[in-house]
Amino acid sequence: MPELPEVETVKSVIAPQITGLKIKEICVRTPGIIAHPGPEKFVRRLTGQKVSGMSRRGKFLTIRTECGDRIVLHLRMTGCLLVTPGKAAEECGEKDRKKYCEEYPEEKHTHLIFRLSEEKEGVQKELRFSDMRRFGRFWLLRDGEEDTYTGMEKLGLEPEDKELTAEYLRAHFGKSRKAVKTCLLDQSVIAGIGNIYADEILFTAGIHPARPANSLLADEWESLAEVIPERIAYFIEKNRITPEEYLETKGQDYRNTPYLQAYGHEGERCPVCGNAFCRMVVGGRGSTCCPRCQKSE
Ligand SMILES: [Zn+2]
Repeated sequence: MPELPEVETVKSVIAPQITGLKIKEICVRTPGIIAHPGPEKFVRRLTGQKVSGMSRRGKFLTIRTECGDRIVLHLRMTGCLLVTPGKAAEECGEKDRKKYCEEYPEEKHTHLIFRLSEEKEGVQKELRFSDMRRFGRFWLLRDGEEDTYTGMEKLGLEPEDKELTAEYLRAHFGKSRKAVKTCLLDQSVIAGIGNIYADEILFTAGIHPARPANSLLADEWESLAEVIPERIAYFIEKNRITPEEYLETKGQDYRNTPYLQAYGHEGERCPVCGNAFCRMVVGGRGSTCCPRCQKSE
């Protein structure tokens, strides 16, 4: 599942390719992925609008239009955005789409396509959304419309927010008997951390994932407040990829796998102490940790 660093990558690859383009046509293959306001209204309202930019909040992406509307989307488990390269508009009329698709075949499980073009005669591209598991969702919020739909309003601080301090973490989790890992996954307190980066953060901080949050000491909260933004920034940096590389791998292979130290390394040696990583279930989620480096009390 894409977490904050991956969603940030998607944004930085896709945004420059679609900003300034006009939405010429929208093809909804799977109406169920449009969560609000329904596929027909979604298409009618957006057709003809111009994309003005893109932003990320937690694991949500927002595509903005010039008139102030926002297309909010969440990739969930397997959602993927892809921009296919531009073609001169005259080569890419309706009858030539077949030819275009021969060159840039649609991914399996493509549910939504935005056909984009420059305002005058010019390049045409497609922004395609594919999703094997079909959990990904789109919402359209009209200019000024209150967001009571997406859940984005309920998100907590971004990891890099200066207000994410040891005091902030302790105020939210300090009395909780829940496992500290479960706390890190609480999107209403910190936005964007999922299973993978929670394991990485706790490994770097030297804290066992199953520790009840109320057992953490002052210096451990300090350490977490320091490690959370540091690790997230590190993985965003390691995730950098060019649009060409992204297209080459169909947006599927930009993950931080080679840089993960704990996640997915069960049974292998810890790079710090040489002991074997072990795997356990914490709060229903598979977790990897080093029993020697990550103190359980
Ligand atoms: Zn270790």
